[in-house]
Amino acid sequence: MKNRFVALLVLLTSSLFASEGMWIPTLLNLDDMQAKGMSLSAEDIYSINHSSIKDAIVHFGGGCTGELISDQGLILTNYHCGYSRVQAHSSLENDYLTDGFWAMNKDEELSNPGLKVTFIKQIIDVTDKVLEGVFPTSTEEERNAIIQANSLLVVNDYIENTHYKGEVKAFNYGNEYHLIIKEIFTDIRLVGAPPSAIGKFGGDTDNWVWPRHTGDFSLFRIYSSPDGKPADFAAENIPFIPLHHLPINMDGVNEGDFTMVYGFPGSTYEHLVHKDVEYIMNQSNPMRIKMRRNSLAIIDAAMINVDATRIKYAAKQSRISNAYKKWIGQNLGLDSFEAIAKKKEFETDLQSKIENDTTLIEQYGSLINELNKMSIEGWDVHLARDIFVEFYYYGPEILRFSIGIDNLLAQMDTLEEGSEHYQLLVEKLNNKSNSFFKNYDKSIDEKIFESLWPIYYSENSNDYTVDISSIKGVSKSWNDGTTVAATLYSSSILLNKEGFLKEINSSIKKLKKKLDKDPIYQLSKLLYANYTDNIKGEYAMSKTRMDGLMRHYTFIQKELNNDPFWPDANSTLRVSYGKAEGSTPRDGMTYKYATTLDGIIQKNNTGNTDFTIPDKLRTLHSDKNYGKYTNEDGKISVCFLGSNHTSGGNSGSPAIDGNGYLVGLNFDRTWESTMSDIMYNPDICRNIMVDIRYVLFIIDKYADAGHLVDEMTLINVSESKEAEVIVL
Ligand code: GLU
Repeated sequence: MKNRFVALLVLLTSSLFASEGMWIPTLLNLDDMQAKGMSLSAEDIYSINHSSIKDAIVHFGGGCTGELISDQGLILTNYHCGYSRVQAHSSLENDYLTDGFWAMNKDEELSNPGLKVTFIKQIIDVTDKVLEGVFPTSTEEERNAIIQANSLLVVNDYIENTHYKGEVKAFNYGNEYHLIIKEIFTDIRLVGAPPSAIGKFGGDTDNWVWPRHTGDFSLFRIYSSPDGKPADFAAENIPFIPLHHLPINMDGVNEGDFTMVYGFPGSTYEHLVHKDVEYIMNQSNPMRIKMRRNSLAIIDAAMINVDATRIKYAAKQSRISNAYKKWIGQNLGLDSFEAIAKKKEFETDLQSKIENDTTLIEQYGSLINELNKMSIEGWDVHLARDIFVEFYYYGPEILRFSIGIDNLLAQMDTLEEGSEHYQLLVEKLNNKSNSFFKNYDKSIDEKIFESLWPIYYSENSNDYTVDISSIKGVSKSWNDGTTVAATLYSSSILLNKEGFLKEINSSIKKLKKKLDKDPIYQLSKLLYANYTDNIKGEYAMSKTRMDGLMRHYTFIQKELNNDPFWPDANSTLRVSYGKAEGSTPRDGMTYKYATTLDGIIQKNNTGNTDFTIPDKLRTLHSDKNYGKYTNEDGKISVCFLGSNHTSGGNSGSPAIDGNGYLVGLNFDRTWESTMSDIMYNPDICRNIMVDIRYVLFIIDKYADAGHLVDEMTLINVSESKEAEVIVL
């Protein structure tokens, strides 16, 4: 009896806190959030009438999130989000990767050309306007054309005569459309970043892993024109004054406290049918894992001993290794959750609900079967596309360099030689080449080619491989990586910096002639053309048809299932919520909800170089020189877990408590949680956040940059009688 009671209690508790979902801020699950401990109103979180928390959140660089933490435009985001910027400013003389970077005053902040941050001014449901003129009888192509035309009109209507940008985004595969009005700032300066030994502490060993001790943060500042508007970098620009910045809760969170994560999750695929999940688990993920494993083996070996290579390849290595490890975890998680069987069960249940309703059976009776059938029919072309993306965009770099050069040369074809625009493109060719060669190592790239080329060939079905017989020297040995690589990498003019720059600056005509005969240039073009001519169209057709059916499928799921329904992530602003809590991810294993500085020392003591720590951090620990940043046990909390449903793009998102105060910085998920992009398991899936007090401790005590902490609004919640909600 007692056991049954306990089991029931566990079930109730887990469903009570089942916190799946990434909610559009205008359509929150507010009652549930408040029931779980949140004191904020909907208007505190999102408002167009006055400032709200949304005004402190930015889309950082397009792929991450950042938040305003001072009234002088100071943004907090992840170290891994600012990493490529820190790397770009680094050299052997100024090795900011190893030493960290801290601007001790605003004049020392470093500009980052090309970096943008985006505020969301408004989210408006424009479904009716966008679907005007679409009929149930319209084909998918007709529908898409009408939607595109209507969207343009809608955007224009709203942003005309403003400096805002607008974008209409589809939600639930086009069941709904929302107009997103944005304000984009382009003068973003680097303010501070810890050394990699803190910002990436744990390296690949700890990536996607708990217990975690990574100080994954960096600081930037938004600058505006003197009148507070977005402006490109200029000396007269001033630190931007935001409508809202997040106050910081110096007491942090306790286990079980409400938390929410506010940011821009990239993509989730929560509503797929079981055959789609089968494709991901059995075809796409294994191929991608294999290619990346091979690339990483080569890059890691090259980076380990040579400092210059370490700096050159740091950002590239991270770009490849991150998803590599994620996909392995994703497959393990989906497998042990029996995801395919669960999807099938869900489909059977939904099918019987459809069949029990005479008004639905005609339109939806065959939908689930059709979706699964269409999924299988698309597997080969989807795999061909995934292989191309993996090989071309994550494999040998020289192929991407080559197509980039080709694009610039093609633009020059339409221009008069020597004209202003022409000269500008010559300059671009020079810049592109210089920045490419700055971080390029031919022998690493050749080894990667050699290793990945046979996979490209063997994984593709015959219909989609590229014919390279026209390339001199490789025609007979097209599937032999070593021979093809040796031919390509011994005779291309694209591989030598000085030689190539000389060609650019002496005669573009001659350069083009040489390139036409160049084996790497030829291969790059063939691969790209093979994709555009042979794969892209068929893939797009399959996807359009599939998305059309998915629209009906998500619609019927929403209609027939009682749970609140949330649309898949699509890089738009979302709120996830849950609580600070650990989990029991595997048999015999428990994740406590938080870690401390003691754990950093313990990991360092193992001798693994991923756990190298700067001496000063060790001294701060041994002296217990913690300042005001301790938790109630007198320790420095480093990271904590929560049941907030997050994804890539939520990197850098604020973890906010029930009063709207900043308590942490989201940066990762546990390995068992990476399945949550496809299926969320409330008992297992946990996001990982850096405790905000660790961030402040590093800024103040480690980096002696206390002037930055002075800019922030620190709140000691336990000392103020009742925590005030200070948003408005
Ligand atoms: N650490 C993750 C990444 O780098 C981002 C956050 C997540 O996916 O949970 O992709």
